[in-house]
Amino acid sequence: MAMRLDGKTILITAAGQGIGRASALACAGEGARVIATDVNAEALAALAAENSAIETRILDVTNGADITAMAQDLPDLDGLFNCAGFVHHGTILDVSDEDWAFSMNLNVTSMVRMCKAFLPGLLRQAEVTGAASVLNMASMASSIKGFPMRTAYGATKAAVIGLTKGIAADFVTKGIRCNALCPGTVDTPSLRGRIAAADDPVQAEKDFIARQPMGRLARVSDVTPMVVYLLSDDSRFVSGQALLVDGGVTI
Ligand code: NAD
Repeated sequence: MAMRLDGKTILITAAGQGIGRASALACAGEGARVIATDVNAEALAALAAENSAIETRILDVTNGADITAMAQDLPDLDGLFNCAGFVHHGTILDVSDEDWAFSMNLNVTSMVRMCKAFLPGLLRQAEVTGAASVLNMASMASSIKGFPMRTAYGATKAAVIGLTKGIAADFVTKGIRCNALCPGTVDTPSLRGRIAAADDPVQAEKDFIARQPMGRLARVSDVTPMVVYLLSDDSRFVSGQALLVDGGVTI
């Protein structure tokens, strides 16, 4: 039986853990050639040990020169999933200029760099096959909904949605689709870190779950079907959208 990503080459950032890692495994499981990138070499080695068909490369998405070099080195892509991002915890009164610059750089400017570097290849590939897909990781915490202690984070993820719509509008006639993924609260290593760092971790976990109408956190496997869909030709008529997978938070 044909798999949904057969013949597609897909690069994923921040694929060392969490949603990026699960997406690498899901895309490989659907037949894609996956290039999994991250700054964490150990995490990439563990991923490659789990699925030897996945190619791994160290990539710091804040390093423009490395991104450009990688884009020149790799074959033209069919899919690019910009997954890297960081959660700043605090109100606007807690955000230093450095914090703000760090979040904007990692969450937004990295995606600008990645898209600029890889779009020429995606366009070439779309000319050959008719379609290529860019997926940018946003969040329900963005222009969609505000949450306490997430001002810097929400602002960066709102910017990701704007970036996504701009790319979608500019390249819609060239076979490029560009969408933003907006998960709810997903049980990942960094979420566990945020819970552990709270004054009262037990209460913090309860609070995260309490804001989920479905009564539980998302698992990465709740999110990866949407990733596969948006990177596959099944979503051929979908572009410029911010797609929520939030367990009903924004009902
Ligand atoms: P995570 O935060 O647990 O892991 C992030 C990965 O990013 C790590 O492997 C880390 O090594 C890598 N990384 C950090 N800095 C990097 C850099 N400069 N270059 C390349 N890689 C780098 O993963 P997660 O919680 O699944 O989050 C992934 C994305 O999903 C983020 O953009 C996050 O904002 C978004 N998101 C997460 C949730 C959630 O609840 N977990 C909800 C909505 C959106």
